[in-house]
Amino acid sequence: MERNQVDMSCNKSTLRMPDVIAKKRDGAELTTEEIEWFVEKMPGVDDSQIGAFLMAIYLKGLSRTETTALTKAMQTSGDVLHWPPEWKGLVVDKHSTGGIGDKISLPLAPALAACGMKVPMISGRGLGFTGGTLDKLESIPGYRVDVAEKDMLPILEQVGCCIVGQTSNLVPADKKLYATRDVTATVGSLPLITASIISKKAAESVSALILDTKFGKGGFMKTIEEGRELAKSLVTVSNGLGIKTTALLTDMNSPIGYTAGNALEVAEAIQCLQGSGPDDLKDLVCQLGGHLLFISGKVASPADGITTIQATLQDGTACAKFQAMLVAQGVSAAIAERLCQSKLDQIDDVWKVLKRASHTTELPAEQCGYVHDIDALALGKVILELGAGRSEAGADIDYSVGFRLLVKVGSQVKQGQSWICLYHNTSPLTEDHISRLQSGLAIGSDKVSPCPSRVREVITAD
Ligand code: URA
Repeated sequence: MERNQVDMSCNKSTLRMPDVIAKKRDGAELTTEEIEWFVEKMPGVDDSQIGAFLMAIYLKGLSRTETTALTKAMQTSGDVLHWPPEWKGLVVDKHSTGGIGDKISLPLAPALAACGMKVPMISGRGLGFTGGTLDKLESIPGYRVDVAEKDMLPILEQVGCCIVGQTSNLVPADKKLYATRDVTATVGSLPLITASIISKKAAESVSALILDTKFGKGGFMKTIEEGRELAKSLVTVSNGLGIKTTALLTDMNSPIGYTAGNALEVAEAIQCLQGSGPDDLKDLVCQLGGHLLFISGKVASPADGITTIQATLQDGTACAKFQAMLVAQGVSAAIAERLCQSKLDQIDDVWKVLKRASHTTELPAEQCGYVHDIDALALGKVILELGAGRSEAGADIDYSVGFRLLVKVGSQVKQGQSWICLYHNTSPLTEDHISRLQSGLAIGSDKVSPCPSRVREVITAD
């Protein structure tokens, strides 16, 4: 059939794969039936055709209607989770586009559970410079991420939250599409990213969703404009699927909190659950949770939601939920209690329970002045190479590796004062690592006032 002469009937039985690919290649809008048909046929389709279809989408884009149709078709390509009817309006989740030191899910899920919500959080592993929630939790001995749907139900009944890995038949279409995107240079497509993220949340059958869309050096999207565009796409499609959704556009230029690296981030998350820890982390947890409680109809305003989440961190109820979740997911009661109930005044107190790295190295500030910037990406890449993350799927990671910042943006420093502590098992650090870490710290003579919150915009429906 010639270009531009494709006969696209809406009857699925007459559709042909080359015609659907050609239609998108030539920039036409696909019908919902064509998109559904492609996803239904995908298990038996040649990889080259999936790759060609993805490249056509990458180059020509998808309208919001097409993206919503693709997301819905992907959502129903496998199991869709079901919850008791009495949980209507209570089942919620959060998604983050990922960043350095992003341990927000660890305190947020139990804080929401402490407010009476049900949080079946299905998370991912880290790949590349951003860490994964599952890896962080697996630094706690005994923690199991492979929880079947039937086993999630009693945990949600008794505790209110669980943080688990994706089961094998949840959105199988995304597994196939993501793997093909990875090898066909089509990962960075807004509609494909949107469909991938939202289809998995929709398959969890959540009624409300909060999105942490990050921008900056340590995020997936580098500029606020790119972050905003992704946030709008995610919010619109998710709302189109009947999920009440808001996105916060948040600054990911410098690391969140003081730590990055799996065990170190667990320690900082527990500090937050104990009502202490870094202010920027606490602010993000409260803002994300507060907006989620608001769109769920649990509170009258986001401000009320923020106060409600703050209270769960201060009064120990969120921490008790986290402890109960650890036990429900395989951690011994003794370890869970030691982690959650002994006051973590210092991050290093966590090594009484978790495995510590064999070496620590502090680096000195090379000049005096005020900290203007701490480049999350530069630091994240070094700890990735030291073993904190994986550069290819399936590789082992070293939970004890990471860094702890001794300063924040705005701190005054003296020349020679330590500004970062590295935790590592390969010793000594190489000259290359040291020089890249040092170049991640920008010191200037002008005083700078750090922004009290990383949240730049709240994005609701278009
Ligand atoms: N996260 C996902 O789950 N999918 C994407 O495409 C990008 C980020």
